[in-house]
Amino acid sequence: MKHCSWCDNEFKTNISYQIYCSTVCRDAATKEKIAARYIHSRRQKRKGKDRRCKKCNKSLSIYNDENLCVDCNINPSEVLKALKQIKGKSK
Ligand SMILES: [Zn+2]
Ligand SMILES: [Zn+2]
Repeated sequence: MKHCSWCDNEFKTNISYQIYCSTVCRDAATKEKIAARYIHSRRQKRKGKDRRCKKCNKSLSIYNDENLCVDCNINPSEVLKALKQIKGKSK
């Protein structure tokens, strides 16, 4: 018995190099590999480039996929919630 590298199901095979239980798992794993490679190469391209936050002009990390820095990239619904809480307190 072997364990699928994708879903961890046990499966039987006579092929020694088979690591996935089904073509579905193999396709899913392949897609993820391609996606990971794409993200990686995109980050590599950012190296040495001066990317800055749209809002505060702070330099962005190559791992930041947004045009905003962590400080400016706040979830708007979270901000609204915080504002409501402040309003509720100052009666
Ligand atoms: Zn599987
Ligand atoms: Zn910023």
